Amino acid sequence: MRVSNEEMMSSTDIPFDKVPPYRVKVVEYTMPTTRVERKELIKRYNWSAPNLPAEYIYVNMCTDSGTNAMSDRQWAAMWLGDESYFNSKSWDPLQEVLQKFTGMEYVMPCHQGRSGEAIIYELFVNNGDLVPSNCHFTTTRAHCYYQQAEPIDLTCPEYFDEHNSSWFKGNIDTEKLKRLFIEQGDRIGLVELVVPNNLCAGQPVSMANIREVRHIIDNYSRRDVVFSLDAARIPENAWIIKKYEAGYGDKTCLEIVQEMMSFADVTHMSAKKAGLVNMGGFVALRNKIDYQRLQPKLIRIDGFITYGGLAGRDLEALAIGLMEGVNDYYLEDKQRQCDFFAKACKERGIATFNPACTLGIWILAEHCLPHIEKQHGPGTALCVQAYIEGGVGFTSMDSLHRGREDSGDPTNIQKIQLAPYELIRCAFPRRVYMDSHYEWCAESLYRAMNWGNKIPPYVRQKMNQLRPSLEKRDIGLRAFFDEYEPLFDHP
Ligand SMILES: *Cc1c(COP(=O)(O)O)cnc(C)c1O
Repeated sequence: MRVSNEEMMSSTDIPFDKVPPYRVKVVEYTMPTTRVERKELIKRYNWSAPNLPAEYIYVNMCTDSGTNAMSDRQWAAMWLGDESYFNSKSWDPLQEVLQKFTGMEYVMPCHQGRSGEAIIYELFVNNGDLVPSNCHFTTTRAHCYYQQAEPIDLTCPEYFDEHNSSWFKGNIDTEKLKRLFIEQGDRIGLVELVVPNNLCAGQPVSMANIREVRHIIDNYSRRDVVFSLDAARIPENAWIIKKYEAGYGDKTCLEIVQEMMSFADVTHMSAKKAGLVNMGGFVALRNKIDYQRLQPKLIRIDGFITYGGLAGRDLEALAIGLMEGVNDYYLEDKQRQCDFFAKACKERGIATFNPACTLGIWILAEHCLPHIEKQHGPGTALCVQAYIEGGVGFTSMDSLHRGREDSGDPTNIQKIQLAPYELIRCAFPRRVYMDSHYEWCAESLYRAMNWGNKIPPYVRQKMNQLRPSLEKRDIGLRAFFDEYEPLFDHP
């Protein structure tokens, strides 16, 4: 069926806060498995759902990256893809959408978020710099180390208070940011704000916080400083601003995204998240000279400046997906799904990080399995047991997985720094699962949790010899390669 971007925004009395604004046209069959098989599988694949062959995971909430279901509008547009190398016609609609979405004049495609970050960090971050952020994502942290700069996470204090009811626990601590500029401003050339803050339980950032960061840069910088937005899920952050920040209730999420962008100099987005595609990304900026300096870097890393490592058909799909992903009805439904899952968890006594936001749901594993100490991986253990119970896949972000960074000695695999929370991330592949899937995930967690102290604590295993060898600057990537084993068998 044909629906235009404008028609998708029409007023309606259909309750899109209760039902989705779309329906299903294609279905994907899943591989049936048994509990006995799953117990065997998870053991064979090193006690980690992300390590499993994906076919054995029935509901896969390990990540929301590139796992989106595309619309009929996107699939139709893909047939119009112009696969010319230079100046593909398919760049035109995407360029226009990106300029509208970001409000920035200079835009370039890239194959995913990290290749855009790589060229931005190469241009703006120098040896010896400090790079403040509300909490760097894994890859921007790695780019810092590769530039021999130091990532500095300045997450706001509200995040560390489990009972705080703020909607904006993803904010940067602006007092600390100001102090860092006053004390070491000559070492700061780039400030990164992740909106929403993926590695801090997906918590949103307020417009006031973004505005304040701009103010601090304008008043306290000691050299040229660029303000960069890591925008992988910016529409989902905009939804929370619309609902909970005064003065935004009547604005569309697109207008809110544009206002958020208006404070930044540069943005990079992994479109594999809220861009509703399976592959893609972009960089946007205001300064023409910086744009000209980025162009040869893009060509070296991703491809010519009108395709950036993407096929013509991918450019077409992204031009459509970005606008679908910022549609208010769609975002309302995304929030509804998260609320539904959070409620299904709460009804079963499963502790979730509050507030539940638009990005996904984070479980507080230390409350679910209180018999397992923080350094023994309550998140890891609960994920494994939930997979055994129901074939569901989540990512553990507990101390075992998050506390590995010994920057003095990256080969020190024994070190575990305790994380503030023993989190499990339940990411929501967009437009893929139904309420009954989420109910099943909550039920699997519940059945897992009910085994209580029959669930084993975990310890770190020696790294497998066949794994990639990591250098000092790869320290932030350790999580992908560390391995763990339970002290005794799972029930
Ligand atoms: C996924 C992600 C990235 C990196 O994007 P890729 O497309 O995976 O390269 C950067 N920042 C955030 C916040 C992300 O979630």
